[in-house]
Amino acid sequence: MQLENTLAFSRKMDAEDPLAKYRSEFIIPEHRGKPVIYFTGNSLGLQPRRTEKYVKDIMDDWANLGVEGHFSAEKPWWDYHERLAKPLSKIVGAMEEEVTVMNTLTVNLHLLMVSFYRPARNKFKILCEEKAFPSDQYMLKSQARFHGYDPEEALIEVKKREGEHHWRTEDFLQAIEEHKDELALVLIGGVNYYNGQVMDMEVITKKARENGIMVGWDLAHAAGNIELKLHDWDVDFAAWCSYKYMNSGPGNLSGVFINQRYHGKEDIPRFEGWWGTKKETRFLMKPEFEPMPNAEAWQLSNAPVMSIAPYLASLTMFEEVGMDSLREKSKKLTAYLEFVLRAIEEEVGGTFEIITPEQRGCQLSVLLHGEGKRLFDYLMAEGVLPDWREPNVIRLAPVPFYNSFEEMYQFGQILKKGILQK
Ligand SMILES: *Cc1c(COP(=O)(O)O)cnc(C)c1O
Repeated sequence: MQLENTLAFSRKMDAEDPLAKYRSEFIIPEHRGKPVIYFTGNSLGLQPRRTEKYVKDIMDDWANLGVEGHFSAEKPWWDYHERLAKPLSKIVGAMEEEVTVMNTLTVNLHLLMVSFYRPARNKFKILCEEKAFPSDQYMLKSQARFHGYDPEEALIEVKKREGEHHWRTEDFLQAIEEHKDELALVLIGGVNYYNGQVMDMEVITKKARENGIMVGWDLAHAAGNIELKLHDWDVDFAAWCSYKYMNSGPGNLSGVFINQRYHGKEDIPRFEGWWGTKKETRFLMKPEFEPMPNAEAWQLSNAPVMSIAPYLASLTMFEEVGMDSLREKSKKLTAYLEFVLRAIEEEVGGTFEIITPEQRGCQLSVLLHGEGKRLFDYLMAEGVLPDWREPNVIRLAPVPFYNSFEEMYQFGQILKKGILQK
């Protein structure tokens, strides 16, 4: 299709968009009485209108039933979290038994390291991408130290090549080949938070597994954004947060994937708690831990339903729409944003560069040559909410659930004015 950088064309795209109606399912913050152009769904997804009721239901059950809510609420609390496994399994491409929700992302990564980072004398290294998300770096380094290794020595960071803005899959494969006898674990962000690159999870996982190395993926920027097939790719474990593309609310729960080959084992190293023991006998309060036959064996505490409720509310929308159609719109919307950016670039002369490679989700990271925070502040003042990363990168994440094609056009006009204003 021939794209056009015009208001009429963007409106036509919205009119033909089968998901356009979902925009009104979200509460969009306002700036001077008009909805903002929200580009930060990769940081905090917007609030679905239906969420409030899910939370209110728990508040009401708690008020009306007290402790009885555990078993006699309409959605009983004791197994409330089970409702999330099915929708989540579709989003990440897993079997229902392989996913559950618990804790928060960094906490889960640490807990998963207990089971899946098992360094032995000469096989103790961890391969990750250079400049991984800071929390992941701290997590990996502290794990290495916890096991008595020097993080400088334990961590192998795969770098981008000189002058390039993205990682090459072959560089990951080569690093695994080179260090295969020393590597205990490969743990990488599935979608890089900075440049928006989708890593080749299938190929990298295969290479690591062929060499007897555990593989985990941090899917914070991937879950709810791109297609995932964790089970088919034979990934060992993965974790993600729910407040970015899955719109569950600030700081909310994390989901985990644990490959079924690790289920039902009593001898696997794992930190355990009562919510991981078999639910049939859980309340008999026995001294023995009998693991749940699925990913739930890794659960520790009773489920925080007040936090799970918004996650469930949001997942009902993913159930209605499905990842395929969400992704289809996402590709179109991001392609249109890219088209608009290129058109503006041409009109004003080359001032920016899209550093996100073609393997991408919805995010575009834009390097602003000769521009700085001034342009970002201007955009904020004009009711655009992008994300700013030092020294001069703006990240724009048009989210297929609530961003429109017209917003991409409007953003282009605002941006052009801002650049010409200098
Ligand atoms: C957002 C994000 C986190 C955040 O972790 P929390 O424990 O939820 O605060 C961690 N890792 C990556 C890669 C992220 O993108």
